[in-house]
Parts: sequence; C-alpha cells; structure tokens
Amino acid sequence: MFYRGTFAVVDLQAIDHNVRSIRTCLDAPVRLMAVVKANAYGHGAVEVARTVLAAGANDLGVASLEEALQLRAAHIQAPILVLGQVSPQAALVAARSRIAVTLGEDWSALDVPTFTPPLDVHLKVDTGMTRLGLLTVEDTVRAARWLTRRSDIQWRGFYTHLACADRPDPSHAEHQMARFHELLTALRADGLHPPLVHAANSAGTLRDKRWHHDMVRVGISLYGYPPADDFPLPVALEPALHLYGFATRVAEVSTGQSVGYGATFVAQQTTRVATVPVGYADGYPRLLSNRATAESGGARVPVIGRICMDQLTVDVSAQPGFQSGDCVTLYGRFPPEQWTQAALEAVPEAARTDWLARTFAAGKSARAVLSVAELARLSETISYEILCGLAPRVERVIVPTTFDSTDGPSL
Ligand SMILES: *Cc1c(COP(=O)(O)O)cnc(C)c1O
Repeated sequence: MFYRGTFAVVDLQAIDHNVRSIRTCLDAPVRLMAVVKANAYGHGAVEVARTVLAAGANDLGVASLEEALQLRAAHIQAPILVLGQVSPQAALVAARSRIAVTLGEDWSALDVPTFTPPLDVHLKVDTGMTRLGLLTVEDTVRAARWLTRRSDIQWRGFYTHLACADRPDPSHAEHQMARFHELLTALRADGLHPPLVHAANSAGTLRDKRWHHDMVRVGISLYGYPPADDFPLPVALEPALHLYGFATRVAEVSTGQSVGYGATFVAQQTTRVATVPVGYADGYPRLLSNRATAESGGARVPVIGRICMDQLTVDVSAQPGFQSGDCVTLYGRFPPEQWTQAALEAVPEAARTDWLARTFAAGKSARAVLSVAELARLSETISYEILCGLAPRVERVIVPTTFDSTDGPSL
C-alpha cells in the first residue's frame, strides 16, 4: 500500500549479477542450486526463483514442502528439493507436484504409500552438523538399498551439509568431507551409485572447488552477502535488499530531554530528532537501539533511543537540511535515480506523495552502502537473520532484471 512511507527495494539485477558471478567459480557441468527458502531470505521467493533460473541456476532448494508448493503454484517448473524433513504422507503430495524430498532417516520399516508419479529423493547423511541425516554406514546403505528397490522412487541425489565451511580453519569441513567420502565409498562398494552428489553451501562453494561435486547449494551469496564477516569473497557480490523509511516528523529537542521508551537516550545538547516509520516488527532488530547508524543524503545518522515496534528515531543534527518526508536508509544503498521508474510504477497513485520522487531524484550520485553485515554485527547476529527477518508487512519495490538503465545499479 505504501501509504506508511516504509519500503524495501528488491534489486533483481543484483541477484542476476550474483548468480552469474558465482557461476564463474564453477566448472561447467556443476549444477547450481539456488536456495530460496524463507521467502528467498526475505527477498520474495517467486520473483527470486524466476530471476536465478533465468541467470543460470539449475535447481531450487527450499526448507519445506509448503515453500516448494508455492513455487509450483507460480508455475515454476525447475527441479525443487525440500531440504528439511518430510513425512511419507507429505511425500505423497510432493510426488504429485514433482518436488524432490530429502530422506534423512530409514523409511524401510515405515508404512510408506505408493508414489504416483514416482517420488524424487535425495539421501542425506549427517557428517558432523548433527542436525539431520543418516549417521552410520549401515543405515546409509540400508536406506539406499531400500530406495533402489522401489519402482515408485527415483534416487536423485546424495548429500550432506557443512557446519563450518565459513571458518578460516578448514579442519572441521575437511573432516566432514572425509566422512562424506567414506559413506559414498561404502555405497559404491555395494553397487549403489547416487546420480547427484552435493555438499557445498555458499561458503563451501566459494572456498574450495574440491567440495563442489555435481552440484552446489548457494543461499546467502545470491543475495549479495558473504557467509561470514571475515570470509574472503573470490568474486564481487551486490547486496539486493534495501530498506528505507521516510521521516514522519523532525523535532528539535533541548538538552536534558529524553527520547523513546525507557528514556535511554538523553540529549546532551540541542538535537534534531527524526522519527522514521520502521521498527522491530518490520525486522529492524531492537538490539540496534542506541547502537546502529542509518544513512541520509550520503551521511550517517545515529539511531537514538529504543527502537519501537513500528518506529525508530535518528539524530539528524548533522544534517541541517533534513526535513519531514526525507528518506532514511536503514540498510542497503541510497536509492539511485535509475530505480525511480520501477518505484513509481509499483506505488499506487494515491500513495505517491512527493517524497518518492524527491528521494529518488536526490539519490543521483549516492553510492554509499550500509551493509546488513554491519547491522548484524551490532545486533549480535548474522546477515541471514536480518535479511529473512524483513517482515511481510514491509512493501517491496521490485527492480526487474529487464529494467533499462544506462549506468546500471552496480555498487
Ligand atoms: C540453507 C541451506 C543452504 C544454503 O546455505 P548458505 O550458507 O545460505 O549458502 C545449503 N544447504 C542446506 C541444506 C541449507 O539448509
């Protein structure tokens, strides 16, 4: 609806760029599974799925059958794998929509229905994450034998998940990969040959080609972020999600006056306080109270006082020209002029106050990026949580990949 003056930009051009960059790290036959779980890490599952497939991804990964069905309902035809646990009854639904499921337990003793059409299955082994998957050689071989005996099941893949591929010390990941090979060797010795072998998440993919096997499963890096703060990226990535709020009021506050719940901020001098309609219910963590900075007109503005459910306050004293209706970037890049058209088309006429045009026009040369990684550090979490925490109530302006621009929204 956009009446509130709060919106996010999902830059599909950045995601397209990131897929192509990640592709350059892969040998040609390696499949790229784009992980679009949790509404594509907050970016919008359907739009992102279409974008990544057009940019060269082969498969999609999701957390649940619900998420997979949402993609099928949007007529997305690519192979989809549910990475989480699925019951035999739920697998019946998956088979009908040609959705592959993860088998991380032994089904041979369960009452498993007959699948029509046949169910696609990826066998999952636990090599050190201790979360999901078969643990022993015996269980793995038994589960694989059972699969291959069933004419209503298609064995598609064999995989594991790395717990520490983003850490500078590779020993945990090496240990997991050694165990993975041990299990794979046991299967092969038994004449059991999984078609697709895969293990690498973003960290494993960008770190070591030996971990790629037949397919990589990339999530966070599609969205422009490294898997960890100190992770060296071999290719340039562009953040795709940007969050903005338009000041609803600017107040001049005198020395000694407090700001917000709990009066945790007290003005030490005359302070200009702007109210921004973004709060923790939008996914901006309350832990950032009195810690983070936002951005306006190319300069940092400190977040002061407690972050409320729906609003927060920033100190704009250093920006004498700042007025009510001006844009504050909570994260991402100050909106460049090239996005004006996409933004204007997305916003219904009745909600088109002048802030929109004014903001985008003002963004002409602004290139500064306020990284989600920085906010994650300040709020004691990881980029993943901030991205996928963006609330559904926040309006999203989508910048399409076909959007025509001369100088392109590169960072
Ligand atoms: C989420 C997930 C991924 C993607 O991880 P990133 O670190 O975001 O690249 C890959 N594999 C599995 C099994 C996952 O659950």
